[in-house]
Amino acid sequence: MSEQDIRADRPAIEVRGLHKSFGDNEVLKGIDFHVGQGEVVCVIGPSGSGKSTLLRCVNRLEEPTQGTILVEGIDITDPETDLDKVRTRIGMVFQQFNLFPHLNVLDNLALAQRRAKRRGKREAAEIGRANLEKVGLGHRADAFPSQLSGGQQQRVAIARALSMNPDMMLFDEPTSALDPELVGDVLAVMRQLADEGMTMMVVTHEMGFAREVGDRVVFMDGGVVVEQGKPEDVLGNPRHERTQSFLSKVL
Ligand code: ADP
Ligand code: MG
Repeated sequence: MSEQDIRADRPAIEVRGLHKSFGDNEVLKGIDFHVGQGEVVCVIGPSGSGKSTLLRCVNRLEEPTQGTILVEGIDITDPETDLDKVRTRIGMVFQQFNLFPHLNVLDNLALAQRRAKRRGKREAAEIGRANLEKVGLGHRADAFPSQLSGGQQQRVAIARALSMNPDMMLFDEPTSALDPELVGDVLAVMRQLADEGMTMMVVTHEMGFAREVGDRVVFMDGGVVVEQGKPEDVLGNPRHERTQSFLSKVL
């Protein structure tokens, strides 16, 4: 069996009994969560409910206090695990785009590839250009971030993540910092990725996206998963009072 076959029958992400405290503030209070291969899971919930902390634990930007996190079957809470190697399989996109202002778009895309993937200049540029095309920005390779709109910068950030050939993509409110008229282009790129079969965990307040693109919606509140299921059930017919109350405010 190839490495690919071995991975195929495992969830991409599996979180068991995850607790996370900052000092005496317990932010995650026992989370069980998974994302299947090729699945798009949207995580929703009020501000402060622990969504970002959960996402950040998945590639160990945060150290769990207790619990197990498996990425493609590999226990990333095990001190023996080569975290850098696991992280190269996980693309991350945040609210803030974090592009280098002094580098043009193509160089922004090439930098991480050259460092983490040890790709040569030419190969990195080629892969970068292909991913810029994919997000509709093939014509802006030479632009500097300040010359682009927020929506374009976020699409560059997505192209940067894709250039690392990740097995899965984690998005943390990728459109929350954008002017409303720029949100659609970013969501369209994410929808395209989903259609191509990318495994995705998306923290979002875009309920339309969650409903149409999500395979599953997870509602978090107060550091626990309150409810999860098909978008039409969780968003259309929530069972829990807390979910109903949240949705009445955002829908
Ligand atoms: P959400 O993304 O759902 O808004 P977060 O995961 O960002 O929620 O935050 C959940 C709680 O954890 C908040 O009360 C926040 O203040 C706290 N928190 C998050 N990160 C840190 C940190 N690095 N240090 C201390 N407290 C934190
Ligand atoms: Mg957050």
